[in-house]
Amino acid sequence: MKYILITGGVISGVGKGVISSSFGAILKSCGIEVTSIKIDPYINLDAGTFSPYEHGEVYVLDDGGEVDLDLGNYERFLNITLHKQNNITTGKIYQTVIDRERHGDYLGKTVQVVPHITDAVQEWVERVAQKPVSESGKTPEVCIIELGGIVGDIESMAFVEAFRQFQFRVKRENFCVAHVSLVPQPKTTGEHKTKPTQQSVRELRGLGLSPDIIVCRSERPIGDSVKEKISNFCHVAPQQIISIPDLYSVYEVPVFMENHGMAEYLSKRLQLDITPLPPLRKYMRSWIELGERMKHLKYEVTVGIVGKYTRLEDSYTSITKALNHAGNEIGCKVNIKFIEASNLEATMLVDDPVAYHSAWHNLCVCDCVVVPGGFGKRGVEGKIEACKWCRVNGKPFLGICLGFQTAVIEFARNVLKMEGANSTEVNEDTKYPVVIDMPEHNTGEMGGTMRLGKRTTVFKPSAIRSKINRLYGSVDKIDERHRHRYEVNPEYIQEFEKHGMQFVGVDVDQQRMEILELDNHPYYVAVQFHPEYLSRPMNPSPPFMGLILAARDKLKSYLHKGCKLSPREPQSDYYDSDEELHDLTAKKLNVGSNEHDDSSSAYSSSSVS
Ligand code: GLN
Repeated sequence: MKYILITGGVISGVGKGVISSSFGAILKSCGIEVTSIKIDPYINLDAGTFSPYEHGEVYVLDDGGEVDLDLGNYERFLNITLHKQNNITTGKIYQTVIDRERHGDYLGKTVQVVPHITDAVQEWVERVAQKPVSESGKTPEVCIIELGGIVGDIESMAFVEAFRQFQFRVKRENFCVAHVSLVPQPKTTGEHKTKPTQQSVRELRGLGLSPDIIVCRSERPIGDSVKEKISNFCHVAPQQIISIPDLYSVYEVPVFMENHGMAEYLSKRLQLDITPLPPLRKYMRSWIELGERMKHLKYEVTVGIVGKYTRLEDSYTSITKALNHAGNEIGCKVNIKFIEASNLEATMLVDDPVAYHSAWHNLCVCDCVVVPGGFGKRGVEGKIEACKWCRVNGKPFLGICLGFQTAVIEFARNVLKMEGANSTEVNEDTKYPVVIDMPEHNTGEMGGTMRLGKRTTVFKPSAIRSKINRLYGSVDKIDERHRHRYEVNPEYIQEFEKHGMQFVGVDVDQQRMEILELDNHPYYVAVQFHPEYLSRPMNPSPPFMGLILAARDKLKSYLHKGCKLSPREPQSDYYDSDEELHDLTAKKLNVGSNEHDDSSSAYSSSSVS
């Protein structure tokens, strides 16, 4: 087993996750089986109890693991299924060690950070790295380990020490370190400054780890002289330094790194024996095509996301990506407007009329609307307003989890005339509890107690011609990931269906409502699960496809054609050979040039992985 440890320097948030996933994508393109581990050095057991404001969305895995959103990057880039154990936190490691201590495993000894915690980290990494990849059933050859935060953080010290020991445990040819560092370019001088990188590499060395690769993140490409300086001061050869400027999209990062010889370097350094290295790997080709396609999107669609964590866009990162995957497939640039749900509420007309009118204006100009998941009371009334507006005005709508529940509440109040209908999460004493808690998932404990992970949804026989069923390929059942504590009250289902709200998908016991669709509406679909987690760049999620197609008024013809898009010219037809496509991409990505790349947007901001 080979290990690539990715550490961060200077500041976090410069795309370490995307770079780590790209290392994996490159190796995968060479036919190497890859897995990954993300280390989050906080004491929480998992990300389940986090505020989306602080860490962005909680990503959910098949096995119900509530993890850091970077795991989403790995799944999307590598097209693999990860497990709870692929996310290590300080809390998990300490819990393991404390459990062992209680069990008497260390009888007579003082339990300490070194060696007990550091040993536990190494054992965990070795164990999880060996786990066969679900998709292929094969044992991975390479494990990418991303250490969250930056080197020097107090929180990550035990992990750095664990890997200092680990490099000797697994031997040099099986372990390498890539250090991702920011190289700022202050406006005052316009020069790239290497000092922060020098200092962070010195810090890493001081802790006993030497970088094999230094990944320099900067807005614009760094020149050879800057590389030389880093090489001199950081004690690495220039070819071990790679500059990654802001690129048009994250799809270009693996291709960019590949064009800088990363496959060759890793092959040699880790004795991976990737020979021969073809000029353009088949897998890489799909990334190149995807990146190219993104730049030639013919149409535009504006999607409103009516949420309550809109201050931090990362809170809805998987939804944004799923929308982009669908847009890309359809040939549409997706513009997203984040609309704060509570600003749509009537009370805001008095409290803050400017915010109220601007939120309503934004909602009205959107081509389609997503009401995403969420917890607690705040913003629920605003979400209900958004559901009503879409229902009444025939605006394409996708409700997800809480958005599914608010669609039900809205319908109950305004169509079934159940005044004050609500979810018991919002009002325990409501006269019409149309959304209620699931007792087995509401134990009072807050961590890991929801209905979590992959579950099967069965389409009712009557739903076989529904839009959403056809979008899913007219199958009988589907598997999607869940994260909720409340459900639609089964007592009211008949009443809803009589009035045109059809629950077309249910759980295997036919007790839990999973998908609803409105009769007589261009696209009004809501789902109790989170389809965004399984959307992939090359395999977009059906409910999102339906939404974007409906926004473009193309859904009918798409369904009519048996869910086929009008054939688009394959990118490969534009080029005579693989080499030509390769050269063109290299040129576009400015490989080997120090000139400024004016393709502007930072890949972190136009992130579409
Ligand atoms: N708060 C709702 C529930 O727990 C919805 C959860 C969600 O949107 N993820 O059921």
